[in-house]
Amino acid sequence: MQWSFKLGKIFGINFQIHVTFLLLLVFIFLAGLRRGPEQALLGVFFICAVFACVLIHEIGHSLIARRFGIEAKSITLLPIGGVATMEEIPEKPGQEIAISIVGPFINLAIAGILYLFIGTWSGMITPSLYPDSVQDLFTRLIGINIILAVFNLIPAFPMDGGRVLRGILSLKMGFMRATTTAVFIGQGFSMFFIFYGLFFNWWLSLIGIFLFIGAGGEKQHVMLQSILHRVLAGEVMATDSHSLNPDDPLTRALEHIYHGCQQDFPVIGSKGIEGVLTRMGILSVIHEKGVIVPVSEVMDRQFPSVDPRTPLDEVYQYLLSHNKTTMPVLENEQLRGMLSLDGISRYLMIQTALKGAPAA
Ligand SMILES: [Zn+2]
Repeated sequence: MQWSFKLGKIFGINFQIHVTFLLLLVFIFLAGLRRGPEQALLGVFFICAVFACVLIHEIGHSLIARRFGIEAKSITLLPIGGVATMEEIPEKPGQEIAISIVGPFINLAIAGILYLFIGTWSGMITPSLYPDSVQDLFTRLIGINIILAVFNLIPAFPMDGGRVLRGILSLKMGFMRATTTAVFIGQGFSMFFIFYGLFFNWWLSLIGIFLFIGAGGEKQHVMLQSILHRVLAGEVMATDSHSLNPDDPLTRALEHIYHGCQQDFPVIGSKGIEGVLTRMGILSVIHEKGVIVPVSEVMDRQFPSVDPRTPLDEVYQYLLSHNKTTMPVLENEQLRGMLSLDGISRYLMIQTALKGAPAA
């Protein structure tokens, strides 16, 4: 995610904080100063404690997903909550239910443990962001964790409840229909929030709008995946792409970029394909190395490749989650073509335009 700082790894998962989250902390501190520095600091600690709970919630999702072989790429903390970015959506209903439900359960467990330590929950729901004491801070944390659990269980994407609902529906119908139905129900809930909020609390309307957009995005994502799943890499790959020689100077690639529409090149040497040269790769070194250096010095030797019979959704997912723009398509180690994100978008564009056209 742009504007995020990587802080390190937790259980092997990249952990990052969005810059707006740091701004939130600064804002909480400055706004709390009129109550005195002690209260301002308690306010900052309170927000950090809330987000620590959100972080544990996201780690819960990621660790259960890992048990099913789905890796989380990163966990990002934003002012509106946490996001664990998974490599793929689990399509087995049981897996999706387990991965999603664990988050709200973790928040309930945290609330239960805090209650055991503090022994009271009176004052756990207080509108102010500034606790009066450390004990008050932890009491409020009980309330926040219960709210987090309930809020996340709302059956609307992108909340966990929406995923649980899709998982349950998937037990009875196909994944695609389950998604459309879950999105429909979720958007119904969102509209209720929007209208209810207009009369009673504007925050609810804002949450409703956020849920409505989130649900639409999930539907689009799943529809895209299902279209791509029916197509094979070999059907969409570019077969007339220029290739380069490892000894060619970088200017040769630039000529193709200027005068053609190819951005990424396979580099073919005496032993077959030896690397991939991408536009991004060229741009990142051109300032330092100039354009006379041989292609072999700039090309990516650790490139992924794909078989022509691989479903396109797998390739698309891989390229996006590994920040790559292109992949050679190899059959028996022989280059058959190049598959790029641009190529996949062009394919989708044509398929969308063809919808409803008379059959040939
Ligand atoms: Zn969650």
